[in-house]
Amino acid sequence: MRCESCGSPATTEIMFAADGGLVAVPKVQRKKIFCKYSKLSANACTDCGAVFHVRLEQPEKLKPFVDYSGSAR
Ligand SMILES: [Zn+2]
Repeated sequence: MRCESCGSPATTEIMFAADGGLVAVPKVQRKKIFCKYSKLSANACTDCGAVFHVRLEQPEKLKPFVDYSGSAR
């Protein structure tokens, strides 16, 4: 995958590691038990340092928390 910032092909897939992996927790769920979350992964450019294509590893886990009320406006 080419770097979105400088176009270099010298990129590598990365994980956000912090004591077992940094995870994305839905805001609405934050004060409850942390049972719904997804690990994050991304690609990093070894030339310019850009991190891009950040994504959820298990996007379906956060699906129940989507607020569709805002998209109708
Ligand atoms: Zn780059």
